[in-house]
Parts: sequence; C-alpha cells; structure tokens
Amino acid sequence: MADCIFCKIAAKEIPSQLVYEDEELVAFKDINPQAPVHVLIVPKKHIPHLLALDPADADLLKRVHAAISKLTRELGIADSGFRVVVNTLKDGGQTVPHLHFHVLGGRFMNWPPG
Ligand code: 5GP
Ligand code: ZN
Repeated sequence: MADCIFCKIAAKEIPSQLVYEDEELVAFKDINPQAPVHVLIVPKKHIPHLLALDPADADLLKRVHAAISKLTRELGIADSGFRVVVNTLKDGGQTVPHLHFHVLGGRFMNWPPG
C-alpha cells in the first residue's frame, strides 16, 4: 500500500535490519527498541490491524508462530522468556497501521503494561 512504512520495509524500499524473511513475512529490528531484543514480525501483505485478518489468512498466523519459535531461539530468549505484543488501534497504542507482532525480551517484562 502506498505510503505505508511497513509495506515499504517489506518491499526493501526502506532499509531495515532484517532478521527473518519468508514468502509471507519479514522480521526486523525495531528502530526504537524497548528491550535488549525487540523485533517486529510483519506480514508482507498490507493488513491494517489484528481484526482485519481474514479467515483465509490462517496460514499467516502459523507462519508467525514458526517465526517466533525460530527467532526467539536464534536471539537467545527462548528459554529466558519473552513477550509478544500486538498493539491494536487507538486504545491499544498502535502507531503504524500495518499489522505487526512485537517480540520483546532480554529483560524482565513488567505487568501490567502502561
Ligand atoms: P506500534 O506502536 O504500532 O505498536 O509499533 C510500531 C513500532 O514500529 C514502534 O515500536 C516503532 O519504533 C517501530 N517503527 C516505526 N517506524 C519504523 C521504521 O522505519 N523502522 C523500524 N525498524 N521500526 C520502526
Ligand atoms: Zn502496509
């Protein structure tokens, strides 16, 4: 989608520190990390937010799970633990309107979130 920063990153029109890619997903380091490990898993397809996922996108969620599994092992946080966050719409604090899964780790994650 034109003017979507994550579409542009997925298309390599904007540089990022890519850590994973498959046919349907990219993952890259967050530009403003909130933890020692902070990566974003992003579908290549423009999906505005979590509730805009279609039942036909079920395969995408399987891939997201596989990417979380692979990346957390590679980044050394699979055993210590981590948090996956999907900020959704205004009250969820979503600032980029293209679905993305934050994977945060490398420190203790407080609860409740702010
Ligand atoms: P949200 O607030 O929508 O849940 O998360 C958006 C995330 O995208 C933020 O953590 C922000 O730091 C990150 N972000 C925004 N623009 C860029 C960018 O151009 N490159 C990268 N790598 N991360 C970005
Ligand atoms: Zn997009």
